[in-house]
Amino acid sequence: MSMRGGPGGHGGHFLSEEEKKNAPKVTKELLIRVFSYLKPYWKQMLLVLTAIVVSSVLNLYPSILTGKMIDEGLIAGDLNRLIFFIVLSFILTLSANLIGVLESYLNTWIAQHITFDMRNQMYRHLQNMSHRFFTENNQGDIITRMTSDIDGVKDIITNTFSSILSNSITLVAAFIAMVNKNWVLALLSLVLLPLFSLPTRAAGKTRWSLTRESQESRDRINGILNETLSVSGQLLVKLFGMEDFEYRRYERENRKMINLNIRESMAGRWFRVVLSTFSSIGPLMIYLVGGIMMMKYDSSLTVGDITVLVSLLSRMYGPVNQLMNMQADWIRSMALFTRLFSYYDMPEEITNAPDAVTPEKAEGNIRFDDVCFGYNPDKLVLKHINFELKSGHSIAIVGPSGSGKSTMINLIPRLYDVTSGSVCFDGIDVRKLDLSFLRGSVGVVSQDTYLFSGTIRENLMYANIHAKEEDMIEACKKANIHDFIVKQELGYDTQVGNRGLKLSGGEKQRISIARVLLKNPAVMIFDEATASLDSISEKAIQDAIDPLIEARTSILIAHRLSTILAADEILVVKDGEIVERGTHQELVGRGGTYTELYETQFKIGDDQKHTPEQA
Ligand code: ADP
Repeated sequence: MSMRGGPGGHGGHFLSEEEKKNAPKVTKELLIRVFSYLKPYWKQMLLVLTAIVVSSVLNLYPSILTGKMIDEGLIAGDLNRLIFFIVLSFILTLSANLIGVLESYLNTWIAQHITFDMRNQMYRHLQNMSHRFFTENNQGDIITRMTSDIDGVKDIITNTFSSILSNSITLVAAFIAMVNKNWVLALLSLVLLPLFSLPTRAAGKTRWSLTRESQESRDRINGILNETLSVSGQLLVKLFGMEDFEYRRYERENRKMINLNIRESMAGRWFRVVLSTFSSIGPLMIYLVGGIMMMKYDSSLTVGDITVLVSLLSRMYGPVNQLMNMQADWIRSMALFTRLFSYYDMPEEITNAPDAVTPEKAEGNIRFDDVCFGYNPDKLVLKHINFELKSGHSIAIVGPSGSGKSTMINLIPRLYDVTSGSVCFDGIDVRKLDLSFLRGSVGVVSQDTYLFSGTIRENLMYANIHAKEEDMIEACKKANIHDFIVKQELGYDTQVGNRGLKLSGGEKQRISIARVLLKNPAVMIFDEATASLDSISEKAIQDAIDPLIEARTSILIAHRLSTILAADEILVVKDGEIVERGTHQELVGRGGTYTELYETQFKIGDDQKHTPEQA
């Protein structure tokens, strides 16, 4: 049997301090849950178990046959029997190895299927997680759960689990075979086994901690090199005349490292000494005690029996050592499962109410009733927001950055739920509406538009996979992007995204406007880009948005005067509160927040292109 590594390939046979501290509590629930993933494959598991038992036993047989070769062949002088046992022994070894191949195949098959199930389950779960989850968690972490953590499960099944099984079975089978030969010597071996495995383990641990120390020292040296040999680091050293200081620091660390390296290397050598010395004691003891029994007490022991016992004992070393080292793997495996399960258990937060209603048709009326909201309930970002958007009308939200404008519109498609108060769509609290109905009725064009990699057509159809070609073209014409698309060599089949055509911010935004138009929602929400676009793109977007505001129920976070002027009502938001509301004419002369915004932002930004009268 080969030495098998731990899950994920990290770690080795000993736990680091941190791993020890974070070792999970292995409860019955945890184990039941782990095994629930194995359950669908119990038939295959049973087959694996059988294969492991059979191959472990077959693997031991040649050792037993050695005894017969000696007693019945060599000592009895029977060449035919000798040859018979030799051939039999060879066939058994061959069969054991072939069954081993079957076992590995089944093992891999089961492990792959279990990780397949876990990945799908995890992906579905992640898709249902709230927007908050993705804003609060690092994308790298999420992807690690999906990839290397679940790969770790595969290693646990193919390595840890099957190693525990096959090693235990080999041990038990070898012990039974020994008892069969001579129970006194079998018991003696049982007592001896831990005695030579323990020193080996202790020596291994010393060596392991030295290896870690020397690794840390190497990291520190690399740190010094990276810092002091970089261009800016060098400059600093020179300008402050610290060459000698840095040299001494380096020399000190370098000396520490070579000392550690020498100790590590010697620890490795001592480890081998301990290993080979202690493992030779067992067979010697069996020869001694067996010999005494044979010669002094005239027991029925034969030379062959003693050879068999020695050979079986030496076959037990590997499994015993591996099982003793298994503890670290086992704890790491359980930690991995605990981590994965904690992900599976994260609440989905925003879900369909059990009695969710799906109205026949969406009108597009939106009402905020005394809405308070905080990303963290202790710190309200929105305070007592009241407004109503009637179907067919449009509202512009303006206010300084960070005042809560985006937060307001995030509440409409339930990216977040209100802390208190309510957001109603067509008179029904959004929390009581069917989620897919709600999100199907609200179209959002956000500031940072995102296109998946694929063709422009695929990106547009994302909004409505059943859309007709002419509808798509119509939407692109309205969004003022059709002419740009047809100018491309492949037209609507041009690749965009990571490896495709690089689009400017303005072009992306117009495609995303077309995408929302194709979805044809009852309410449109625009988060107008603050980033300054060049005036041509800006004009193109303006020409796309302005007619839409006239024609559709819409809410806009506006930064441009022409957008603001096109809306029926303006809400001025400051520090999470609506401080003023009305039309441009009513607000501009009032000398409040709006006037201030107008003087500093809208007027300057827009005057260069068109005056309010023109727009
Ligand atoms: P605006 O759109 O007016 O610029 P936002 O609605 O984006 O303002 O932000 C309002 C406040 O909420 C800001 O103080 C911001 O820091 C905070 N905020 C925005 N998004 C989050 C988030 N995902 N988690 C926590 N706080 C947030």
